[in-house]
Amino acid sequence: MTNILKKKLKQNPVTRKRKAVPSGLKTLLRRFKKLKFEYVECGRIDSIADGIARVYGLDGVQAGELLEFVPKSGQVVRGMALNLEKQFVGAVLFGNDAVLKEGDFSRRTKSIISVPAGLFLRGRVLDPLGQPLDNKGALPATKQELIERKAPGIQLRARIDSPMATGIRAVDSLVPIGNGQRELIIGDRQTGKTAIAVDTIIHQTTLRQLEADYVSSKTVNSCIGAEKAGSTCVYVAIGQKRSSVAQLAKKLEEVNAMPWTVIIAATASDSAPLQFLAPYAGCTIAEYFRDIGEPTVIIYDDLSKQAVAYRQLSLLLRRPPGREAYPGDVFYCHSRLLERAANMGKGYSLTALPIIETQAGDLSAYIPTNVISITDGQCALEADLFFKGIRPAINVGLSVSRVGSAAQIKAMKRVAGQLKLLLAQYRENAAFAQFASDLDASTKKVLERGERLTQILKQDQFATTSTPIQVVMLYAGSKGYLDILSLDQINQFMSLVVNDLTTYSWPFVETIIATKDFDSDAESSMQEYITDMVHYIQSN
Ligand code: ATP
Ligand code: MG
Repeated sequence: MTNILKKKLKQNPVTRKRKAVPSGLKTLLRRFKKLKFEYVECGRIDSIADGIARVYGLDGVQAGELLEFVPKSGQVVRGMALNLEKQFVGAVLFGNDAVLKEGDFSRRTKSIISVPAGLFLRGRVLDPLGQPLDNKGALPATKQELIERKAPGIQLRARIDSPMATGIRAVDSLVPIGNGQRELIIGDRQTGKTAIAVDTIIHQTTLRQLEADYVSSKTVNSCIGAEKAGSTCVYVAIGQKRSSVAQLAKKLEEVNAMPWTVIIAATASDSAPLQFLAPYAGCTIAEYFRDIGEPTVIIYDDLSKQAVAYRQLSLLLRRPPGREAYPGDVFYCHSRLLERAANMGKGYSLTALPIIETQAGDLSAYIPTNVISITDGQCALEADLFFKGIRPAINVGLSVSRVGSAAQIKAMKRVAGQLKLLLAQYRENAAFAQFASDLDASTKKVLERGERLTQILKQDQFATTSTPIQVVMLYAGSKGYLDILSLDQINQFMSLVVNDLTTYSWPFVETIIATKDFDSDAESSMQEYITDMVHYIQSN
């Protein structure tokens, strides 16, 4: 039966014609099998305005997922899914929204926002999505790390017990910062907030350099010791001018601090979502350095601009406004970021220095009080002091470090304890002295001593001092050795001491370096050194 059918079919010209089609199909099918297909979940833009897109479709999208918007013409614009509603997804755009229109496609990437992490990031300037902003070429392909990560748990954390030296006398003595601490720098605009952060970065390089010199030459250098060699620094610039970030990078290159620094920049011209994401991206990169055993410092300059960017996003996404029109979860925004800074013990630490800008010195506004309550202390800068020439303009009364002397070496603790007391007395008496014309001798003495101590705590930008030298200066001031000098002579004393102690090796400095303290022998030779120096200045 089948044979007969086959014969008939062969004879039938129509069937022969048909036979040609299946052979063509077969080749098509063969080619088709080789093709690789990818399933991409797409949606369409329902409405778009002010950098926010409402997208329908995208049913499986995750919160925080990176989305790509494909305009009919022009480049793909990236965005992030933030509001997940029943039928719509509220997404923020990172790029120019003018090229997008209603009806344009949006597709899922299935990746939550992440940044590259690696040693190669040192010396680079990046945007919050990990794209280089400097002219140093593309980054090598590497593993990406999520920018939002959980803070280390309670069990993993260790006590903060080692100093993170900033090289700024007023900070290291009065509001000491420990490795793993979160210390807020707060003040009005143009009061030297960034200057403190930048000096801290520069001092880390000085410490590294001096340690390298010490190791190579095997000579004891007075500048090192008593503190760990410098930390790796991550500086996050939020909502600043591009020119300020460029200037900072240039300055850090000049002083050779850039090879240990990463800058993450979301400038004022960048979109609000990028400004909001920058601190998290910076923190992930900083955590990489912490995890490879480098003590790391991260500076968020500044978080008030991040809060403003987040408020802008939230209001455009129609989330309900709360106090000062900030969304209710702005506290969580800052707390989940700052909780990621911690001392994990054995040299693994991430120190955070968030910066907050206040309006007319108002520390009790919403964002300042939030961040004050999250951090382990604050360094409050005051415009009045800044204009009086007391720089850094640290208000000693309002500044505090809740970690306190646990973050100081013993030698510093001994001089700083007395210093705090004397400055408190000075403040108290100075307030009364404004009204009194006739002052008794003891009040006069307190005022004079206070003035001299304030003079010692004044410090220029980019002129950091290492801890052992700070100890000598503060000892001289608080024990009254400098009472006989004028304020100008005190400046002379300080520059002579810095020159002398960094150039030559002095046994009492070596004792401070080796033991982190000074015994009675070292103390008496320190006294002798200071007295000689004071006589030298007086006689010249
Ligand atoms: P902004 O609010 O604009 O960010 P800021 O509070 O970060 O300002 P800075 O930019 O650090 O302030 O400093 C303002 C100015 O004060 C700068 O010109 C800086 O050079 C100067 N300045 C800061 N600290 C000192 C200092 N210790 N000695 C001398 N000048 C200083
Ligand atoms: Mg600043």
